[in-house]
This record gives sequence, C-alpha cells and structure tokens, in this order.
Amino acid sequence: MNLLDFFHRRKTFPHGIHPDEHKELTAGLPIRRMPFAPTLYVPLAQHIGAPARPIVKVGQEVVRGEPIAEAGGFVSVPMHAPATGRVTAIDRLIPSAAGRKVPAIVIDVYEADPQQVGWGIDTDTASMDPKQLAAAVQAAGMVGLGGAAFPSHVKLLPPEGKVIDTVVINGCECEPYLTCDHRIMLEQTDKLLAGIDMVLKATGAQRAIIGVEDNKLDAVTQIRAKLPADGPVSCEAVQTKYPQGAEKMLITALLDREVPSGGIPADIGVAVYNVGTMAQLGELVPKGRGLIERVVTVTGPAVKKPGNYLTPIGTPLRFLLEFAGAELEGAEVILGGPMMGMAVAALDVVVTKGVSGVVVYPPAEADLGHKTVFPCIKCGACLEACPINLNPAMLGQLAGARRYEEMAQEFHLNDCFECGCCSYVCPSNIPLTQYFRIAKSINREAAQKNHD
Ligand code: SF4
Ligand code: SF4
Repeated sequence: MNLLDFFHRRKTFPHGIHPDEHKELTAGLPIRRMPFAPTLYVPLAQHIGAPARPIVKVGQEVVRGEPIAEAGGFVSVPMHAPATGRVTAIDRLIPSAAGRKVPAIVIDVYEADPQQVGWGIDTDTASMDPKQLAAAVQAAGMVGLGGAAFPSHVKLLPPEGKVIDTVVINGCECEPYLTCDHRIMLEQTDKLLAGIDMVLKATGAQRAIIGVEDNKLDAVTQIRAKLPADGPVSCEAVQTKYPQGAEKMLITALLDREVPSGGIPADIGVAVYNVGTMAQLGELVPKGRGLIERVVTVTGPAVKKPGNYLTPIGTPLRFLLEFAGAELEGAEVILGGPMMGMAVAALDVVVTKGVSGVVVYPPAEADLGHKTVFPCIKCGACLEACPINLNPAMLGQLAGARRYEEMAQEFHLNDCFECGCCSYVCPSNIPLTQYFRIAKSINREAAQKNHD
C-alpha cells in the first residue's frame, strides 16, 4: 500500500452498514481441495434461466469434466460431470436451498479413480471473435460465482443498441465471514487477469476496473503489481462497507453512475463480473473445459476446521460440513453469507455453482427467527441504512397491512435487492427484509395469475 492510498478517502456509496467481519477465521488459510463425496447430485437448474437438459443415460459411465447436460436455451448453461463415475439417476428430485425439490443428475463416484479431468480441447482464445468467445464461455457452463448465478455469456452480448464501455470486476466480498474471493485474488491472480482480458475483448469495453474493499489491501497490492501502468485494467480499493459488493453500489462507488430503477448495468454502459468468475474463465476457456468445482468458504462459530475448500459441484452439505468438523446438532446452517444468505433446513442440499460460502452457528447463537418483534418506534435507522434510499419503515407498515401492490407502485418495492441492512439496524427486530421478500413473491404470483 502506498501513502496516497493510506490517506486517500476511499470511494463508496451513500448509507450502508458495518457488520462485524469475522473474516479472520479463514482469510489467511490457502484454498484446499475437498475429497469427493461418494455420490454427487448435479441440479439441472443452478442458474437464472432455463434448466439444462440431460444428455446422458442412467447406467452410463462419465468422465470428470464431460458434458452431462446441454443448455436449455440462450439464458442457460450446460452442466459437466464433477467426477468420474456412473450415472445412477436422472431427474431425481433433491431439496434446494429455497426448500423446493429440484431435478438433478446423480453420479456415483468411482472411489479408486485418480479423478483426472478427462475432457477439454485447448482453444486459442486470442483468435476468437466476440461471438465465438461468448459461445465458449457458455460451453464452459459459466455463471456468476458471486451468488447470482446469472449465465456469464449473456452479459458478454449486451442488448441491441447498448454499448459496454467499462467492465467492473467485483472483488469486494462485503458479506461477513466469506473469504473465497479474497483467496482467489491472492492465489489465482494470473487466471483472474486472463479472464478479464477475455471479457474486455468479448464486450469491446475500453477499460476494466477491479474494485476491492480496503480490508483486502494485500490483494490490491498483488493485483496492481501484475498490471502494466498504461494498460486498460486498474485496481481500486473501495471503502469496506456493506453492501459494497452489490453491483449497483459498486458501480456508484467506482464510476459515479446510477443504474436506473428497473434497469440493468448495460443501460449505463457497464458489465459487472465477480473475481471468482473471472479466474474460472481464465482457467477453463483456454482449455475448453467446463465448470465442475468452485471455492466455498466453510466457516462460522460451529466449524472446527474452517477454510476455503475447492469443492466439486453437487457435494451434499452434510459431507462438506462433516469434513470441516462442523457441530451440526441443533446448528443453524446458512448458505451464502449471513446478510443475504439463506438458512437451509436439510443438509442434503448440495453445493451449486452460486454457493460462495456456508456459515454454521451453534444452537446458542442461532437466529432462528425467535426474536421478539416490537412495534416500530420511528427511529429512522432503517432509512439511514438503506443503500438505495427506500423507506423501509413505510414499506414495513404497508406489508403489515398487506398492501403489497401499493408497496410496489408507490414505494419502489421492486428496487429492493434484499440486502438486509434495514432488518440489521432495526431496534424493534422487525424482519423487514423478510416482509419485502414475501411481498414481492405475492405480487409476482398475482401478476402471473392476471397474465394467465
Ligand atoms: S433490504 Fe431493501 S429496503 Fe432494506 S435496506 Fe436493503 S434495499 Fe433497502
Ligand atoms: S429501524 Fe425499525 S423501528 Fe426504526 S424506523 Fe425503521 S422499522 Fe421503525
């Protein structure tokens, strides 16, 4: 870090909160490979968009890395075998984090197999045009690894009439506890930069800016050391503040541009990618390979061996957590970070492409929704915290009165991205974010009924 950096007031966005970070549990631990579970369950819908379609049969042997399902449309990606083994079921329903049962391809892993990746053709990405690059990214099964799981190739091909001038690379990792992106920036810097080069070429953007929270200045230093001074890529430290890693917040902080209400970053000439996605792109696309594993932070007060584990897609949480020495009796298991993650009821939920972390709380610390809720005292803390200037107190009142439509029409409910800041600061323990999630889903159902 240079002195200018030290005294410089870091870029950021208005409002937000500063939850305890708890990153010290895993930030210093290098990425370690997980063993293979005896059986892997590869859900066909791990991304936003159409589910993938199986292309294997029950009983078929598959090689690690082999495509086992094809993309189900443009906004969709294929799936690849995370291990060498035999397909024992297709379309088997397994529980998802959201509680629904989802179809999956089940692979019994060959225990004695050395598990080399047996699929992939070296590809000269330098000679590819943007459309070919986008097709190669889709063939790799790439989705946003920061949690959104949006197919990466779609953002490479902006809608008609939109031009991408800047690519923002998200290295904020603002959720407490999670450190997988931090380790990737430190340990896979060259792959990260190779992925960014590819995205610059595919989008035609003139520059890329990597935004990293200033609690990870070692990553900033390391990335900057590899960047030529006059190149199109730069790395900026931004203020450590939640939710700095939300794409709209990061765009505001770095570019002082605002994504319009109901719009997407491409509307203002920006495409946003996560650092983990870039590192995987940089690794997989030149080798013509598919995404079969990802780094997952496994941590929390109930985990004895916390760490960043390179985990095969389809690994059941129980296997992962037992490997990490988690005490599971009565524990609360959160998929993702504690702010935007989801509590899971069943440990046969599996690691999918969008799972960046698993946080486990022992019974004494579990927040299972049993807090006493008091009436709103109109303190205004939620308005101060909301990063997009909504009025969570008013929205909360309307939710209590079941005036869901009014929430959307008059108070911009649909702009709420469920960051959790308002609930976090509310002294009355009002589960505002939960109310908003429910209100949005009721509005969606009503709209669907009207449409039908
Ligand atoms: S959950 Fe929604 S309303 Fe609450 S602070 Fe976040 S964006 Fe604002
Ligand atoms: S933080 Fe809670 S108590 Fe305060 S105004 Fe918002 S909803 Fe009311």
